[in-house]
Order: sequence, then structure tokens, then C-alpha cells
Amino acid sequence: MSKPKKCILLGATGSIGESSLRVIRKHPDKLKLFGASAHSQAEKLISIAQEFKVTNLHLSRSPDALGSPSLETPINFGGNGLEELAAHPEADLVVIAIVGTAALRPTLAALEAGTDVVLANKESLVLGGRIVTETARRTGARIIPADSEHNAVFQCLQGQNEKSLDSIVLTASGGAFRDLPIERLKEVTPEQSLQHPNWKMGPKVTIDSATMANKGLELIEAHWLFGLPSDKLEVVIHPPSIVHSVVRFVDGCCFAQMSPPSMTFALQNALLYPERCSGVESSLDFSKAMDLSFAPPNLKRYPCLKLARDALTQGGSAPLAFNASNEIAVDAFRLNRIGFLEISDIIDHTLNKMSHAQPNSLDELLATDSYARRLSSDRVDALGK
Ligand code: NAD
Ligand code: MG
Repeated sequence: MSKPKKCILLGATGSIGESSLRVIRKHPDKLKLFGASAHSQAEKLISIAQEFKVTNLHLSRSPDALGSPSLETPINFGGNGLEELAAHPEADLVVIAIVGTAALRPTLAALEAGTDVVLANKESLVLGGRIVTETARRTGARIIPADSEHNAVFQCLQGQNEKSLDSIVLTASGGAFRDLPIERLKEVTPEQSLQHPNWKMGPKVTIDSATMANKGLELIEAHWLFGLPSDKLEVVIHPPSIVHSVVRFVDGCCFAQMSPPSMTFALQNALLYPERCSGVESSLDFSKAMDLSFAPPNLKRYPCLKLARDALTQGGSAPLAFNASNEIAVDAFRLNRIGFLEISDIIDHTLNKMSHAQPNSLDELLATDSYARRLSSDRVDALGK
């Protein structure tokens, strides 16, 4: 019997981190937690370390900011520790479950070390799609998609000739406000935005689902993962979140991947790929009536989706600016500094202020990212409370 794959889980304390741990717990003969990181939840990281007997640990916030956590288990803090952990020579797989742009450097470090990456984070690919995919190609490391839509596409493409792919249809739940009259969107609060109808996820991605900036980021993610242009990437609202995406082949036949709305299915597929083993949760129950409706998104309700598509079509640094500006706007909305509808205003304003030349290096990329954040923060100050 082959040895369990040694997995490093970056962002172990979040929603994707927890779902990944459920899969690892279920398959100790196939998967071994070998390293883990968190941003600030030291106690939670320690309890994960104790349960899975892990000693390669990293916390990205400095210990001074933490009060006095019980540090019986040694933890590495700050500096380049996250990248060093991601590049650990003994790792077989690095799972990127960190939220936001902070995932870019560790993703690059793992790929540079030639280690396969299970990628749940989408922001790093939107920010650095070119450099991330080029690094993987150069070192031969694989990027195995774990975002449910992209994992669905990945599954549908297995055994198919690349040339027979025509287009991809990403499904979207429509988020917390898909049935709210549009004129009431201006009143919605951060708390209401965090009530997703189907998925239990971290706060940023839940708000991104309500604006559909999430699907916008996923369009760009799909472009980098599967090499299709914007006009071959469609989005459809599918309220039950059972069909996780559809692949259309050149002969017109469509394949879809279906499972209940829980990330354990996509994560297990990615972590155990190419093997299939019994799942953490029950499959779909076809003995009960099931709704499988699909409808096109109304872009008046979801302006962030249109902005993301325009950014993808424009190329250069536009996707990067969309991502950076969305992060700043979502943070400001969560702090009640701006209203829900101002999220798209801030992104639009930032995109219009920038020239969108293609950054040619990681430094240029990060400098452009900082510039987009600064413009967005200024706009928050101008609009906000
Ligand atoms: P979350 O907020 O629940 O967890 C985020 C994790 O990242 C935590 O472990 C936190 O400690 C760590 N983290 C936060 N900021 C960090 C920083 N600056 N440096 C290092 N670590 C940091 O988020 P989540 O919902 O688990 O989402 C993680 C990623 O997966 C996001 O990119 C999200 O878009 C993507 N994703 C999530 C879901 C889901 O169901 N939650 C589904 C698909 C894709
Ligand atoms: Mg998704």
C-alpha cells in the first residue's frame, strides 16, 4: 500500500481549512496532515496540531498582537515562514485555503518547489494568473482546482481531448439577495449579506457571492486554469447549487458535475486525485423531487459581475485592479463605512482611474496591486462615513 500523501494546509482555521480537515480525518490511510498555518487563531491552530500530531506550524500575525496564547506547541511566526512552509521539501501537496491576495506568495513558493497545489483560493490566480501558471508549467507542479466550479470542470474534462472543449458554464447561486427587489439592495447590511442561502463559507466569499464579484473572480480564475477567453466562459444562476458547473464540447454535448452544496466533495476530489474513495457526506438523494433550474444573471442586480467580465476582456492589470479594489470595498462594507451598492462603485472608479498595462514582474504586480488599493481606499474615504 502506498504511503499517505503529506499535506500542508495553509489557512487551516478557516471554512475551507475545516472542510479539508474533515476529508483528511476521513482518510488517514491516504492523507497525512504534515503542516498547517493560520493568520491569528493561535489556539485553534494548536488544537489542530495536537489532533493531527503536526509540528510544522506557522502563524502570520506577530505574537505581540496575540495576547498570551498557550504555546506548548512551538509555532513559527511572521517573516517568510509561510513561504518556507509552502516550499517544505517533504510535502506532497500544499492546500491553499488562505483568503485573499495573501495567498499569492505561498502559492508561488509551493509551485516553485515543484509541489502540487490544491487551490481553493481564487484571488491569487486573479492577481497573478500569468506568473502562477507559468511557474507551474516550468516546474511541472500541478494546480488542482478546489473551488467547486473549477473542480467540477476539472472532473468533467478527465479523459477528454483538450481540443474538444468548446466552452464552460459556471453556475452561481445568486447569493443572499437574489430574490430581493433591486431597489432594496441599497439598505442591506453586512449581517444580512453573510446569510448565504446554500453554502456555509468564510465572510469575504459570502459577501462576494451576494454581489457576484465571486463569480467574476471565478471567470478570471477559469480563464487561467482552462485557457479559454471571456466569450467562451458563461455564467448562469442555478439557485439550488447542485450542478457545480457545465462543460460544453464542440459537438454540442454538455457534461455537468453534481453533488450537494458542501465543499467536502470538491476538496476530497482534489486532495485524493486521481483516486475516488467514499465521501465525507451523503450523496444526492434522487428519490426526492429536485429542482435543477437555470436562469441568466441580471447584470443590473450584479454590476460586479459585469465589471469583472470587462476586466477579463480588457486584460493587463485590469483583473488585478478588480480584485484589489473588491477586497478594499468588501472590508469597508463589513465595517459599515460604505453601503452595499458602493462596492461596485469603488471597483468601477478604480478601474477607470488605471491604465492597465501588463505588469512584467512580481514586484510590478504587487506595486500595481498596492496602487489599486490606494485608489480604492481614497474612494472609500470620499464616499464613506
Ligand atoms: P475564511 O475566512 O474562513 O478562512 C481564511 C483562512 O485564511 C484562515 O485560516 C485565516 O487564518 C487565513 N488568513 C486570513 N488572512 C490571512 C493572511 N493575511 N495571511 C495568511 N493567512 C491568512 O475563508 P474561506 O471561506 O475558507 O476561503 C478561503 C479561500 O477559499 C478564499 O479565497 C475563498 O474565495 C475560497 N473559497 C472558499 C469557499 C468556501 O466554501 N468557504 C469555496 C470556494 C472557494
Ligand atoms: Mg466557487
